[in-house]
Amino acid sequence: MSNVQIVNEPPVGLQGEGFLVTNLSAVVGMARKNSLWPLPFATSCCGIEFMSTMGPNYDLSRFGMERLSFSPRQADLLMVMGTIAKKMGPILRHVYEQMAEPRWVIAVGACASSGGVFDSYSVLQGIDKVIPVDVYVPGCPPRPEQIIQGIMQIQELAASESLRRRNGDQYKALLDSYNIK
Ligand code: SF4
Repeated sequence: MSNVQIVNEPPVGLQGEGFLVTNLSAVVGMARKNSLWPLPFATSCCGIEFMSTMGPNYDLSRFGMERLSFSPRQADLLMVMGTIAKKMGPILRHVYEQMAEPRWVIAVGACASSGGVFDSYSVLQGIDKVIPVDVYVPGCPPRPEQIIQGIMQIQELAASESLRRRNGDQYKALLDSYNIK
């Protein structure tokens, strides 16, 4: 006789073949995780690295993401890749504001994350000065593997996010801190 004990037995009436016990949040999370539509906001060299990530060697479509969206209203993952000049900050913010919830943001590379080597009067020292960021990918430029890892981290966030998070006080306070309505 086996010593293994099953501690999480399904409730009475929900046992046997053909039954699946889950919750709505997990199902919605799985759907969101596997159907992200990225909007590539590429301004310089890191954008070229993203093109390689989309190419046959790395093939981002393996993650259900071959459908790039160049319309913010049909995108839920904003990927900012490249040097962002201060003059471009309001435009980036405008793009972010046009995206519907739930939306996620990746800062790809040193420039988008912190201004990179361009510590100058004209370059935004990180896009988190104008919009909230979920994942930072380091590197100048980051390799495609790093970009893919960043996307997989976004997938984990999407899969595990509570359905109530976007209506919660903490999230509202985050948007308020950026003066985003
Ligand atoms: S992080 Fe490096 S590779 Fe990427 S945009 Fe800046 S300078 Fe170019």
